[in-house]
Amino acid sequence: MSYRETVIAYADQQAKVYQDIALAIHDKPEVSNYEFFASETLAKQLEKEGFETKLDVAGHRTGFTAVYRGAKPGPVLVFLAEYDALAGLGHGCGHNLFGAASSLAAASLKQVIDEVGGEVRVYGTPGEEGGENGSAKGSFVREGFLKDVDAALCAHPGTEKNILTGKSLACAPVDIEFWGKAAHASGCPEKGINALDGLILTYTGINALRQHVTPDVRIHGIITNGGDAPNTVPDYAKAKFYLRAATAPGLENLYQRVVSIVEGAALATGAKGRLQPYQNRVENTVPTPSFDALFLKELESLGETAEKRDEDPKGSSDVGNISQVVPTIQPSLIISAEKLAGHSEDFRDAAASEFGLTFVPRAAKALALTALDLILEPETLAAIKAEHAAAVAAQEA
Ligand SMILES: [Zn+2]
Repeated sequence: MSYRETVIAYADQQAKVYQDIALAIHDKPEVSNYEFFASETLAKQLEKEGFETKLDVAGHRTGFTAVYRGAKPGPVLVFLAEYDALAGLGHGCGHNLFGAASSLAAASLKQVIDEVGGEVRVYGTPGEEGGENGSAKGSFVREGFLKDVDAALCAHPGTEKNILTGKSLACAPVDIEFWGKAAHASGCPEKGINALDGLILTYTGINALRQHVTPDVRIHGIITNGGDAPNTVPDYAKAKFYLRAATAPGLENLYQRVVSIVEGAALATGAKGRLQPYQNRVENTVPTPSFDALFLKELESLGETAEKRDEDPKGSSDVGNISQVVPTIQPSLIISAEKLAGHSEDFRDAAASEFGLTFVPRAAKALALTALDLILEPETLAAIKAEHAAAVAAQEA
């Protein structure tokens, strides 16, 4: 058997094991940094496959690494695994399939790695959907897990048509808080300092800012604390906001403008105001088209095709943080022929459907074969790395 045939045969042979894992994770949805069942199940399976695994990494108790070093030196390739669910909805983003497919891709590539050379890893990255200490990929980058890595690969479940890696927005999830002074709201309001007023002025200040930002910018938030009783001047108020822009410099500019709004509202009301991140900043995705072209070639060899993502980005993913430091692909492969809304009950159901489960071996094979190409064709890998470096540099210009 050729290397390719070995990889494909193993993915087919093991498909059911990983589909069952995807179903088990679907049955037990866990949110950001609480994915104990999912991370342990995937890590245990990879240990069975012969990987050296480590749980609780990069400051995330539900993060993991699985490493297999081949007998000969060669490229270090990482498959990124996500497995978090959405609060209240379950696996409405299909990350149960995502983590299982990346793990199967790694296990399949491992079958030939001693012969072709190199190293296969899976990074289990919690909390893609965000939350307290969410978007773990930023932590993996910060803590040096990508330093010796040549490329990163993963695939996301999608619907209607397969789509290659697209851009995504940089995003800063922040808490905005105000502290004032409680007082009877009618008896002695002059003694009080109204934290809620500080927050409301911030909210309207942000709305005034909207007219004067570039079209890529998205700002959206909720008020989570606005006081406890109408007859008491609120001494504490809190909002959670997402600030998004197409690039890191654009986001930083937006961030500072919102900081100024908070400072202005604090000055106006006498309340103390603070804006601070409650998790990693999510960076915009830098696509590497030649890497996607390689993936497309492999996908087509398996009888599927994919289109370029042409629309402007609206969402964000912490895969972006990885793509800022190594060439990265995250194509989306369909789990339903029909177009379904993301983060919906329909999407959640598709992620456990018969069609949905085909994602696991389909994505695993295409990703593993793409990684195999990177090992067998050093000049292709070098060209991809050069293109990626140029794309990263261009966005800073
Ligand atoms: Zn997702």
